Amino acid sequence: MAVPKKKISKSRRDMRRAHHALKPEGHMECQNCGELKRPHHVCAQCGHYGDREVVEAAGA
Ligand SMILES: [Zn+2]
Repeated sequence: MAVPKKKISKSRRDMRRAHHALKPEGHMECQNCGELKRPHHVCAQCGHYGDREVVEAAGA
């Protein structure tokens, strides 16, 4: 968008930035320990993914 800075009004600029907000990250409860985890990621608390432990639990 090669337009001189002063040609863009504050309103125009801010309207463009109205879409720049970050969305809250998705999360769901771990099936094993109930801790919040990111979908499709190994649980950071207990190391489970799906119905089995795939990495050693963080605290153990
Ligand atoms: Zn867990």
